[in-house]
Amino acid sequence: MDEQSRLKVAMQKSGRLTDFSTDLLVRCGLKFSRGKDQLVAFGENMPLDLLFVRDDDIPDLVEEDVCDLGLVGLNVVAEKSLELAAKGHPTRFEIVRALEFGRCRLSIAVPENFSYDGVRSLAGKRIATTYPYLLGKFLTDNGIDAEIVTLSGAVEIAPRLGRADAICDLVSTGSTLLANRLREVEKVLESHAVLIRTPVALPASKGEWVERLLMRIDGVQQVRESKYIMLHAPRSALPAIRKLLPGSESPTIIPLEGHPDRVAVHAVCRENVFWETLESLKAAGASALLVLPVEKMLA
Ligand code: ATP
Ligand code: ZN
Repeated sequence: MDEQSRLKVAMQKSGRLTDFSTDLLVRCGLKFSRGKDQLVAFGENMPLDLLFVRDDDIPDLVEEDVCDLGLVGLNVVAEKSLELAAKGHPTRFEIVRALEFGRCRLSIAVPENFSYDGVRSLAGKRIATTYPYLLGKFLTDNGIDAEIVTLSGAVEIAPRLGRADAICDLVSTGSTLLANRLREVEKVLESHAVLIRTPVALPASKGEWVERLLMRIDGVQQVRESKYIMLHAPRSALPAIRKLLPGSESPTIIPLEGHPDRVAVHAVCRENVFWETLESLKAAGASALLVLPVEKMLA
């Protein structure tokens, strides 16, 4: 297969998204080899190559059609889109999937001793951030006039250094804020990783692989919480049991040899199955309950 027909996927070289991105692609069936510090890894069983780059470069690479797909935080994508719009360029990449990892939020935080009483308290203040466009939009949407101090990093220490009165930064657990004696007061954006693709029409063979990959991603994301439940029950208890099976489609009912009034029920539940559910199923007459993880699913 020639170079042109291999899909190029940009992902973070080393950071919070790296392991999750790799894990997702491996679950989609990709086998690849990556040497230390190699910037490219070649898929061994799919016509797909990975480019390891800084997360901030991913939208540009996809936008400029150097890569066909990219795995990156919505925060980076949203900031880039606003920046492009401000410069009069429409966004050219497309978000094709929301992914389940990289959850965080872009929030405004103030020092502990800042007397905060709603967004109005930010008027006239200096807010440090690496996300000037998202912060700018938030302030405009809320009718607040404040000074945006654009930094390239270490935003959380800006108030202590006297460079800002508040910050706007990514938060997941809040432990960094706590360590810097900052308090989260406003949420600007709820973020998670996304898959973006080039808007350019792809040659058929590449396009087909994109579709296949999307289908596999859906399969991987669907099964994460899914469980396969097996149980035995009296036929008479079936209506009650069906009501109790969480998020399941029509279960398979199998007769039990030598027990005309009892059946085995097998069902895929698209939600996690908790002990409480098993206890309710048992109370409804079920026995021999078994819950198994689902590895792959293709609807
Ligand atoms: P790079 O060297 O690739 O530019 P970075 O320092 O910008 O790395 P990371 O800190 O690895 O990036 O974060 C990558 C992405 O992980 C973020 O853009 C965001 O989407 C997500 N993320 C999830 N939780 C957090 C968090 N608590 N802080 C920062 N980013 C987070
Ligand atoms: Zn970055």
